[in-house]
Amino acid sequence: MASLGNVIGRPRPAVDALPSYRPGKDAAQAEEEHGIDDAIKLASNETPWGPVPSVAGALAGSIEGINRYADHRASELRVRLADWVGATEDEITVGCGSVGLLQQLFLTYVDAGDEVLYPWRSFEVYPVYTKLVDGVPVTPALVNNAFDLDAVADAVTDKTKLIILANPNNPTGTAFSMSDLGTLLDGVDDSVVVVLDEAYREFMDPALGNPVSDLLPDHPNLLITRTFSKAQGLAALRVGYAVGHPTVIESIDKTLFPFAVNGMAQAAAIASIEADDEVMERVGRIKVERTRMVDAARAMGHDVPDQEANFVYLPLGDKTMEVCTGLEKLGLVTRPFAGEGLRITVSSPEENDRLLAGLTELTG
Ligand SMILES: *Cc1c(COP(=O)(O)O)cnc(C)c1O
Repeated sequence: MASLGNVIGRPRPAVDALPSYRPGKDAAQAEEEHGIDDAIKLASNETPWGPVPSVAGALAGSIEGINRYADHRASELRVRLADWVGATEDEITVGCGSVGLLQQLFLTYVDAGDEVLYPWRSFEVYPVYTKLVDGVPVTPALVNNAFDLDAVADAVTDKTKLIILANPNNPTGTAFSMSDLGTLLDGVDDSVVVVLDEAYREFMDPALGNPVSDLLPDHPNLLITRTFSKAQGLAALRVGYAVGHPTVIESIDKTLFPFAVNGMAQAAAIASIEADDEVMERVGRIKVERTRMVDAARAMGHDVPDQEANFVYLPLGDKTMEVCTGLEKLGLVTRPFAGEGLRITVSSPEENDRLLAGLTELTG
């Protein structure tokens, strides 16, 4: 029945105003667009390899049980995570990817009109979630592609509910130390939750510190999110986790939708923790390749900031889209930020060779 003209449903204005989420282009789309047949995707910071054998085995074994709902609390995974990261069980929770946990954080802490503070440019999910709950984004600018933590401290007001810091930052790849974060935390009231998004933690220089042991004991308002999507290579399974004070964990747990972390994801995550040595050996190979790519890009004259994740950021400014399209025509799909720079995932040596050859052709 058409009672309101042609209006079908009435989305909340905040939702109406949101752009639709567009994931990065995949290789098949680029092949079709440019009439080529050997495109590779270096656009989403995935690992180039499939699961390690024991994780594949655990996944295969978990198929048997999928007629039953899995454990909503993922109790066994929480126990393993607590042991793995050096926390207690009540300091750990899990979510449907770390972006699922981030959404839970917004539902837990941000009412309409509350301020959410994150440096910008950073991870694109932060502004989307802020607008979704009618929060007010407060976004101090980056300096030399890195966070200015003093500017973050200065931007805190009595309306600030969340501060979100991606470390390393996506897309610029820069990272700050836990001692610098400690200085920021010393000046932030415990009524503000400071979220440290460590999606790329495994790729960082360990000398930058460990927030769980260095900061959490003295700063109960710190909440650390991590994921199995990047270093562990389980992006399609959607499993992330958070480490924080038990009261923060208890609050965000209330917003976990039922059975959000599926049974196969739980099994794979546990197996992946057990295979940590193998995973970290792969991470080591990516870090060697990252150094090679950063050195090569700098030799071409690109002003690449120090990189701590599994991608390389080229601050190409006005040339970004031109270089991105040129690479795409060569079958190299990267992630552009128009007018700012290009983010390129570090992949296998062979794929990185192709990327560097293309980059040399276009900008070398
Ligand atoms: C990739 C990424 C995530 C990811 O998340 P999952 O939802 O766990 O796959 C979170 N934060 C940042 C900054 C990322 O780049």
